[in-house]
Amino acid sequence: KLVSRENHSRTSTVHVRDVPIGPDSVTLIAGPCAVETPEQTLEAALMAKRAGAALMRGGAYKPRTSPYAFQGLGADGLKILADVREETGLPVVTEIVDPADIDVVAEYADMLQVGTRNMQNFALLQAVGSVGKPVLLKRGLTATYEEWLMAAEYIAQRGNLDIVLCERGVRSFESAIRNMLDVSAVPMVHQLSHLPILIDPSHAAGRRELVVPLARAAIGVGAEGLLIDVHPHPETAKCDGPQALHGADLDELAHAVTTLPPAL
Ligand code: PEP
Repeated sequence: KLVSRENHSRTSTVHVRDVPIGPDSVTLIAGPCAVETPEQTLEAALMAKRAGAALMRGGAYKPRTSPYAFQGLGADGLKILADVREETGLPVVTEIVDPADIDVVAEYADMLQVGTRNMQNFALLQAVGSVGKPVLLKRGLTATYEEWLMAAEYIAQRGNLDIVLCERGVRSFESAIRNMLDVSAVPMVHQLSHLPILIDPSHAAGRRELVVPLARAAIGVGAEGLLIDVHPHPETAKCDGPQALHGADLDELAHAVTTLPPAL
Protein backbone atom coordinates (compact mmCIF):
# COMPACT_ATOMS: atom_id res chain seq x y z
CA LYS A 1 0.00 0.00 0.00
CA LEU A 2 1.19 3.49 -0.82
CA VAL A 3 0.55 4.92 2.65
CA SER A 4 1.77 1.97 4.71
CA ARG A 5 4.86 2.11 6.88
CA GLU A 6 6.48 -0.74 4.98
CA ASN A 7 9.73 0.37 3.32
CA HIS A 8 9.73 3.71 5.18
CA SER A 9 12.08 3.96 8.12
CA ARG A 10 10.95 7.52 8.89
CA THR A 11 7.70 9.45 8.92
CA SER A 12 7.39 11.52 5.75
CA THR A 13 7.51 15.30 5.64
CA VAL A 14 4.77 17.07 3.68
CA HIS A 15 5.40 20.64 2.55
CA VAL A 16 2.63 23.23 2.39
CA ARG A 17 4.34 25.88 0.29
CA ASP A 18 7.61 26.11 2.24
CA VAL A 19 6.19 24.92 5.59
CA PRO A 20 7.20 21.39 6.58
CA ILE A 21 4.86 19.06 8.44
CA GLY A 22 6.91 16.12 9.58
CA PRO A 23 8.97 14.50 12.30
CA ASP A 24 11.57 17.25 12.70
CA SER A 25 9.23 19.91 14.06
CA VAL A 26 5.84 20.61 15.61
CA THR A 27 3.70 22.58 13.16
CA LEU A 28 1.02 24.82 14.55
CA ILE A 29 -1.98 25.56 12.33
CA ALA A 30 -4.46 28.02 13.81
CA GLY A 31 -7.32 30.22 12.75
CA PRO A 32 -11.06 30.57 12.99
CA CYS A 33 -13.37 27.60 12.63
CA ALA A 34 -15.29 29.54 9.98
CA VAL A 35 -14.47 32.56 7.86
CA GLU A 36 -17.15 35.09 8.85
CA THR A 37 -15.86 38.52 7.81
CA PRO A 38 -12.58 39.90 6.42
CA GLU A 39 -11.86 41.64 9.74
CA GLN A 40 -12.55 38.57 11.90
CA THR A 41 -10.43 36.36 9.63
CA LEU A 42 -7.52 38.81 9.59
CA GLU A 43 -7.64 39.28 13.37
CA ALA A 44 -7.66 35.53 13.96
CA ALA A 45 -4.79 35.03 11.50
CA LEU A 46 -2.74 37.71 13.23
CA MET A 47 -3.34 35.95 16.55
CA ALA A 48 -2.18 32.72 14.93
CA LYS A 49 0.92 34.40 13.53
CA ARG A 50 1.81 36.06 16.81
CA ALA A 51 1.63 32.71 18.59
CA GLY A 52 4.02 31.18 16.06
CA ALA A 53 1.61 29.34 13.76
CA ALA A 54 3.15 28.50 10.40
CA LEU A 55 -0.18 27.98 8.61
CA MET A 56 -3.66 29.40 9.04
CA ARG A 57 -6.93 27.50 9.01
CA GLY A 58 -10.45 28.77 8.25
CA GLY A 59 -13.56 27.15 6.82
CA ALA A 60 -15.32 28.73 3.85
CA TYR A 61 -17.53 25.69 3.29
CA LYS A 62 -18.86 24.44 6.63
CA PRO A 63 -20.36 20.95 6.90
CA ARG A 64 -22.78 21.58 9.78
CA THR A 65 -24.86 19.00 11.58
CA SER A 66 -27.94 21.20 11.24
CA PRO A 67 -28.94 22.59 7.84
CA TYR A 68 -30.12 25.72 9.69
CA ALA A 69 -26.64 26.47 11.10
CA PHE A 70 -24.24 28.88 9.34
CA GLN A 71 -22.99 27.05 6.26
CA GLY A 72 -20.00 29.28 5.50
CA LEU A 73 -19.40 32.01 2.93
CA GLY A 74 -18.36 29.64 0.15
CA ALA A 75 -16.28 31.19 -2.65
CA ASP A 76 -16.44 34.63 -0.99
CA GLY A 77 -14.80 33.05 2.06
CA LEU A 78 -12.01 31.65 -0.11
CA LYS A 79 -11.29 35.15 -1.43
CA ILE A 80 -11.11 36.48 2.13
CA LEU A 81 -8.63 33.74 3.00
CA ALA A 82 -6.49 34.63 -0.01
CA ASP A 83 -6.49 38.32 1.00
CA VAL A 84 -5.50 37.41 4.57
CA ARG A 85 -2.71 35.20 3.24
CA GLU A 86 -1.48 38.19 1.26
CA GLU A 87 -1.52 40.32 4.40
CA THR A 88 0.01 37.83 6.85
CA GLY A 89 2.11 35.55 4.66
CA LEU A 90 0.47 32.49 6.25
CA PRO A 91 -0.47 29.73 3.79
CA VAL A 92 -4.12 28.66 3.96
CA VAL A 93 -5.66 25.33 5.01
CA THR A 94 -9.37 25.14 4.18
CA GLU A 95 -12.01 22.47 3.85
CA ILE A 96 -13.58 21.18 0.66
CA VAL A 97 -16.94 19.42 0.98
CA ASP A 98 -18.04 18.88 -2.61
CA PRO A 99 -15.97 17.48 -5.50
CA ALA A 100 -17.71 20.02 -7.75
CA ASP A 101 -15.82 22.81 -5.93
CA ILE A 102 -12.38 21.29 -6.49
CA ASP A 103 -11.13 23.83 -9.02
CA VAL A 104 -12.13 26.90 -7.05
CA VAL A 105 -10.90 25.56 -3.70
CA ALA A 106 -7.60 24.36 -5.21
CA GLU A 107 -7.13 27.79 -6.80
CA TYR A 108 -7.21 29.57 -3.42
CA ALA A 109 -6.09 26.99 -0.85
CA ASP A 110 -2.55 25.87 -0.08
CA MET A 111 -3.79 22.70 1.64
CA LEU A 112 -7.15 20.99 1.13
CA GLN A 113 -8.89 19.73 4.24
CA VAL A 114 -11.25 16.75 4.08
CA GLY A 115 -13.43 16.81 7.17
CA THR A 116 -14.53 14.03 9.45
CA ARG A 117 -17.95 13.72 7.81
CA ASN A 118 -16.38 13.26 4.40
CA MET A 119 -13.58 10.87 5.27
CA GLN A 120 -15.24 8.17 3.20
CA ASN A 121 -16.58 10.41 0.45
CA PHE A 122 -14.62 8.52 -2.17
CA ALA A 123 -15.41 10.87 -5.04
CA LEU A 124 -14.09 13.76 -2.94
CA LEU A 125 -10.95 11.80 -1.99
CA GLN A 126 -10.25 11.06 -5.64
CA ALA A 127 -10.82 14.69 -6.56
CA VAL A 128 -8.36 15.98 -3.95
CA GLY A 129 -5.92 13.29 -5.02
CA SER A 130 -5.90 14.66 -8.54
CA VAL A 131 -5.10 18.35 -8.09
CA GLY A 132 -1.55 18.36 -6.73
CA LYS A 133 -2.19 20.19 -3.46
CA PRO A 134 -1.37 18.75 -0.03
CA VAL A 135 -4.33 17.24 1.78
CA LEU A 136 -5.29 17.23 5.46
CA LEU A 137 -7.42 14.14 6.02
CA LYS A 138 -9.40 14.12 9.24
CA ARG A 139 -10.44 10.89 10.86
CA GLY A 140 -14.09 9.93 10.47
CA LEU A 141 -16.22 10.16 13.60
CA THR A 142 -16.35 6.38 13.92
CA ALA A 143 -13.55 5.29 11.61
CA THR A 144 -11.05 2.57 12.47
CA TYR A 145 -7.37 3.19 11.72
CA GLU A 146 -7.66 0.79 8.80
CA GLU A 147 -10.64 2.66 7.30
CA TRP A 148 -8.84 5.98 7.76
CA LEU A 149 -5.68 4.74 6.08
CA MET A 150 -7.72 3.24 3.25
CA ALA A 151 -9.31 6.66 2.76
CA ALA A 152 -5.77 8.10 2.52
CA GLU A 153 -4.96 5.36 0.02
CA TYR A 154 -7.73 6.67 -2.29
CA ILE A 155 -5.89 10.02 -2.38
CA ALA A 156 -2.46 8.44 -2.78
CA GLN A 157 -3.66 6.20 -5.59
CA ARG A 158 -4.41 9.30 -7.66
CA GLY A 159 -0.76 10.27 -7.46
CA ASN A 160 -0.85 12.55 -4.43
CA LEU A 161 1.23 11.40 -1.47
CA ASP A 162 1.25 14.80 0.22
CA ILE A 163 -1.23 13.66 2.85
CA VAL A 164 -1.31 14.63 6.52
CA LEU A 165 -3.70 12.78 8.85
CA CYS A 166 -5.58 14.54 11.64
CA GLU A 167 -7.11 12.91 14.71
CA ARG A 168 -10.02 15.03 15.96
CA GLY A 169 -11.78 12.79 18.44
CA VAL A 170 -14.20 9.95 17.91
CA ARG A 171 -17.77 9.24 19.02
CA SER A 172 -18.05 7.94 22.54
CA PHE A 173 -20.56 7.36 25.34
CA GLU A 174 -19.35 10.46 27.22
CA SER A 175 -21.50 13.56 26.86
CA ALA A 176 -19.37 15.99 28.90
CA ILE A 177 -16.96 16.32 26.00
CA ARG A 178 -17.85 16.64 22.36
CA ASN A 179 -15.69 13.80 21.09
CA MET A 180 -13.17 11.50 22.74
CA LEU A 181 -9.64 12.38 21.68
CA ASP A 182 -7.89 9.16 20.76
CA VAL A 183 -4.25 9.80 21.59
CA SER A 184 -3.43 6.20 20.68
CA ALA A 185 -4.04 7.22 17.08
CA VAL A 186 -0.66 8.93 16.96
CA PRO A 187 1.64 6.03 17.88
CA MET A 188 -0.64 3.61 16.01
CA VAL A 189 -0.53 5.68 12.82
CA HIS A 190 3.23 5.97 13.18
CA GLN A 191 3.39 2.18 13.32
CA LEU A 192 1.04 1.58 10.42
CA SER A 193 1.83 4.45 8.07
CA HIS A 194 4.59 6.85 7.04
CA LEU A 195 2.17 9.77 6.86
CA PRO A 196 2.53 12.56 9.44
CA ILE A 197 -0.33 13.07 11.88
CA LEU A 198 -1.72 16.15 13.60
CA ILE A 199 -4.16 16.47 16.47
CA ASP A 200 -7.13 18.83 16.54
CA PRO A 201 -7.92 19.21 20.24
CA SER A 202 -10.46 21.97 19.53
CA HIS A 203 -12.94 19.77 17.68
CA ALA A 204 -12.25 16.86 20.02
CA ALA A 205 -13.00 18.73 23.22
CA GLY A 206 -15.60 21.22 22.05
CA ARG A 207 -14.58 23.31 25.10
CA ARG A 208 -11.72 25.75 25.20
CA GLU A 209 -10.50 24.89 28.71
CA LEU A 210 -9.55 21.40 27.54
CA VAL A 211 -7.61 22.51 24.48
CA VAL A 212 -4.24 23.27 26.12
CA PRO A 213 -4.09 20.03 28.18
CA LEU A 214 -5.05 17.96 25.13
CA ALA A 215 -2.47 19.79 23.02
CA ARG A 216 0.19 18.82 25.57
CA ALA A 217 -0.97 15.21 25.32
CA ALA A 218 -0.74 15.40 21.53
CA ILE A 219 2.87 16.51 21.64
CA GLY A 220 3.61 13.97 24.38
CA VAL A 221 2.58 11.11 22.08
CA GLY A 222 4.57 12.48 19.16
CA ALA A 223 2.07 14.29 16.91
CA GLU A 224 3.72 16.29 14.13
CA GLY A 225 1.53 19.28 14.87
CA LEU A 226 -1.72 20.81 16.03
CA LEU A 227 -4.82 22.26 14.40
CA ILE A 228 -6.37 24.88 16.68
CA ASP A 229 -9.44 27.13 16.57
CA VAL A 230 -8.84 30.75 17.59
CA HIS A 231 -11.27 33.66 17.33
CA PRO A 232 -11.08 37.36 18.20
CA HIS A 233 -14.59 37.22 19.73
CA PRO A 234 -15.46 33.59 20.55
CA GLU A 235 -18.69 34.63 22.31
CA THR A 236 -20.18 35.87 19.02
CA ALA A 237 -18.59 33.28 16.71
CA LYS A 238 -20.94 31.86 14.09
CA CYS A 239 -19.44 28.41 14.47
CA ASP A 240 -18.05 26.49 17.45
CA GLY A 241 -17.39 29.53 19.66
CA PRO A 242 -17.11 27.52 22.92
CA GLN A 243 -14.03 25.69 21.67
CA ALA A 244 -12.26 28.72 20.16
CA LEU A 245 -9.26 30.02 22.06
CA HIS A 246 -8.71 33.69 22.79
CA GLY A 247 -5.42 35.06 21.47
CA ALA A 248 -3.78 34.88 24.90
CA ASP A 249 -4.79 31.22 25.28
CA LEU A 250 -3.14 30.46 21.95
CA ASP A 251 0.06 32.12 23.11
CA GLU A 252 -0.09 29.96 26.23
CA LEU A 253 -0.67 26.84 24.15
CA ALA A 254 2.27 27.61 21.87
CA HIS A 255 4.48 28.19 24.89
CA ALA A 256 3.27 24.99 26.58
CA VAL A 257 3.96 22.78 23.59
CA THR A 258 7.30 24.28 22.70
CA THR A 259 8.67 23.85 26.21
CA LEU A 260 7.74 20.16 26.44
CA PRO A 261 10.55 17.64 26.14
CA PRO A 262 10.49 15.83 22.76
CA ALA A 263 8.37 12.67 22.63
CA LEU A 264 10.25 9.43 23.16
C1 PEP B 1 -13.10 21.84 10.97
O1 PEP B 1 -11.90 21.58 11.25
O2 PEP B 1 -13.48 22.96 10.61
C2 PEP B 1 -14.11 20.79 11.10
C3 PEP B 1 -15.36 20.96 10.66
O3 PEP B 1 -13.66 19.69 11.71
P1 PEP B 1 -14.24 18.18 11.70
O4 PEP B 1 -14.39 17.80 10.25
O5 PEP B 1 -13.16 17.44 12.40
O6 PEP B 1 -15.54 18.20 12.46
